[in-house]
Amino acid sequence: MGRHEEGAGIGTLRRPDEGSPFVIRRVDTDVVVLGAGPAGLAAACAAIESGARVVVVEREERVGGILKQCVHDGFGVARYGLKLTGPEYALRDADRLASLGAVVMLEAFVSKAERTDGGCRLACVDRSGVVELTAGAVVLATGCRERTDRQVFIHGDRPAGIFAAGLAQYMINVQGLLPGRRALILGSGDIGLIMARRMTLEGMEVLGAHEIKSEPSGLSRNVRQCLDDYGIPLELSSTVTAVHGSRRVTGVTTARVDAAMRTIPGTERDIDCDTLILSVGLIPENEIARSLGVPIDTATKGPKVDQNMHTLAEGVFACGNAVHVNDLADYVSESGETAGRSAAAYAASRLKTGGRAPERRLTPLDAGPGFLYAVPQFVDLAAPRRGELAAFYFRSRATETDGAVVRMSAGGTALLERRYPALRPPEMERFELDTDAIAEAIAEGDTAMPSDRRITLEMGRRSAL
Ligand SMILES: Cc1cc2nc3c(=O)[nH]c(=O)nc-3n(C[C@H](O)[C@H](O)[C@H](O)COP(=O)(O)OP(=O)(O)OC[C@H]3O[C@@H](n4cnc5c(N)ncnc54)[C@H](O)[C@@H]3O)c2cc1C
Repeated sequence: MGRHEEGAGIGTLRRPDEGSPFVIRRVDTDVVVLGAGPAGLAAACAAIESGARVVVVEREERVGGILKQCVHDGFGVARYGLKLTGPEYALRDADRLASLGAVVMLEAFVSKAERTDGGCRLACVDRSGVVELTAGAVVLATGCRERTDRQVFIHGDRPAGIFAAGLAQYMINVQGLLPGRRALILGSGDIGLIMARRMTLEGMEVLGAHEIKSEPSGLSRNVRQCLDDYGIPLELSSTVTAVHGSRRVTGVTTARVDAAMRTIPGTERDIDCDTLILSVGLIPENEIARSLGVPIDTATKGPKVDQNMHTLAEGVFACGNAVHVNDLADYVSESGETAGRSAAAYAASRLKTGGRAPERRLTPLDAGPGFLYAVPQFVDLAAPRRGELAAFYFRSRATETDGAVVRMSAGGTALLERRYPALRPPEMERFELDTDAIAEAIAEGDTAMPSDRRITLEMGRRSAL
């Protein structure tokens, strides 16, 4: 691997309708990184530092992803020991990438992606026309998107004044626009909580956040710092059942719900407001993953990956919020670094072996019923990390206030046992493990016993395990 040859212009077509030049270029590279948020930036840096030629494709006009609109601080505590704002955090990797001399295509959109014998081929459209990218490996770092009112059942018209929380964040923090004057928030996801504080600081009246579940969906620290500190009420087991107004929202009806989340008749309340903010969750962006034939986990809604962030589709890696919705950007970057390094090693190995894909020995990680999900879902026992520790992340299915014990075993041998004073689904947990130890435990197990060929993650109450 070495430096890029200059992107070769191979011809000029005429668009039949406009007669303007429509340039097609073909660029061959080692690794294409799709998306330049914190995951993609970290992946691109790590891949270049591992010796790969890298092209980054970003659909927006600037790199940084969602962090460009996150003006609050708290980013980078785990990675840098600093409390940075989102833009400050993203700038660090953007500067690093610039100093590494990466090829970054901005305002570029991938219209088609397919796997080939040698890796992947992506049809990409930018202001110069169509660019066909071929690469030994691709890293999907496309982030997540917000669920919208299409995923929530609310009666009424669709007047102006209903915003997803992230859109309200973009309006206030990037465009300098107020979405309204008097807002009610539906849901208690982290972005909604952060926006409750932000809208209050900008002079809006925030009437409260209504959460259909009996517990908040966001982090406890965000409930404290963004609602409690500003006297904004959090109504649990409560939802919005109707929106009023034809051109602009004039109010909403809220109602309490029972344990089965059915509205309780007689608890309806009409509230005057001109803005409804939806904070009802995030979903990984995975349209491109699907077109590349990448199997998706129904729990995370993102690609299934191994400890190297390699998906189950050869040569396709994924990281950050495209894989699962992380609670810290620091972990997003961590997975990006892993994906970038692994993609570079994969592309180099294929080049060295005349196109042959490196052998993989994927062993599933079986997460027990106490877990909402665990990532990675597989461990590749043929790809030792030579003493490097692999990161594992999980979320509990339910709130465990009395404490819990989590144990990971392989080949019937317990490799990790960790006690948690409490577990809550919004708080993502992380631990590290030497995957060589997993491989050894499995090799030593009784290969005739199916249970000895598995990796299991179990959860129990205190000393129950
Ligand atoms: C609306 C919203 C608001 C958020 N606000 C906060 C917050 O206030 N605080 C917080 O801690 N976290 C917030 N998050 C979580 C935030 O997404 C993560 O902290 C972090 O930004 C995830 O990094 P990422 O690189 O995985 O994804 P992103 O930051 O989302 O970056 C993905 C990048 O990929 C690009 N992309 C996507 N698809 C394509 C494609 N097909 N072609 C080319 N480029 C593509 C996007 O333009 C984007 O630049 C928010 C998330 C969302 C969706």
